[in-house]
Amino acid sequence: MKKLIFYFIFVIILIFTMPIVFTNQFKTEEVSAEKLEEKFDYGEYTTIKLLHTSTGEVEEMHLDEYLYGVVSSEMPATFEMEALKAQAVVARTYTIYQIRNGKKHENADMCDSSYNCQAWISKEDRYARWEEGKRDEYWNKIVEAVNSTKGKVILYNGEPINALFHSNSGGATELSINVWGGDFPYFQTVQTSGEQNYTSYSSEVTISKDDLIKKMLEKYSGFQINFSEEEPIKILERTVSNRISRIKIGNIEITGVDARNLFGLKSANFNFEILGDNIKFSVLGYGHGVGFSQCGGDTLAKNGRNYEEIIKYYYKDVEISE
Ligand SMILES: [Zn+2]
Repeated sequence: MKKLIFYFIFVIILIFTMPIVFTNQFKTEEVSAEKLEEKFDYGEYTTIKLLHTSTGEVEEMHLDEYLYGVVSSEMPATFEMEALKAQAVVARTYTIYQIRNGKKHENADMCDSSYNCQAWISKEDRYARWEEGKRDEYWNKIVEAVNSTKGKVILYNGEPINALFHSNSGGATELSINVWGGDFPYFQTVQTSGEQNYTSYSSEVTISKDDLIKKMLEKYSGFQINFSEEEPIKILERTVSNRISRIKIGNIEITGVDARNLFGLKSANFNFEILGDNIKFSVLGYGHGVGFSQCGGDTLAKNGRNYEEIIKYYYKDVEISE
């Protein structure tokens, strides 16, 4: 009888514990499958669906072929080979990051616009814009930059980084948190000497007071400004890289990025002067200033740095995959 009771209790315990054991087993299996899926595998990214913004067509092509069109569109072929290689690795990483972290387009991985994803140009169109006699030389340079860095991706903690880049930092690169609010540990503010030797380093925009009022009113309906007051426009704060973070125009306070977009300035690093009926903006740098600076990279290459050193100069604590 006692034996029977023990046996009965044993069965009861078994009935209650078996499902727990099984579920736990399933859970462990599920987790490891998820982890495998998450782990970055370059082999998954061999083709890309490219949206042509002018026609709305989506074209599928090999990733390297896509990168020829990106590098030749985003960086002058006259730049140093190591700068072009850095650009190739940066563009490859940026593309894979976009695919892995929420695409911007429904039926495509990337589009051909620099305002949205990154610029891309077909070989045919690229040749038409290059001077005759230089075309094959330039194209071969681009192809070599992409092919000689095949499969190289910039990683942080084993994951492809959001490899943002721009034309010219105007002296110092910016943190992403100051531009879009997103914080990434691998962006840093670094200074690159030599960027002043490029035409994109400095620029000027002059607009009339009337135009400024019109543009402000289009965006801010309660806008008012009195130019006879002292300091009708006032820079309130700059970031560590000298870009404007807050500026007061009349009765409205906006960010430097807002001002850049509104007045068509090449960057948020600017000064202004009120001259008669006009406002003259003097701008340093070209682009948002986050991550890899193309002109800075070209300067570093001229000084003998290789593409890996250039990449690690602009992105902190990163590795470059094999
Ligand atoms: Zn896009």
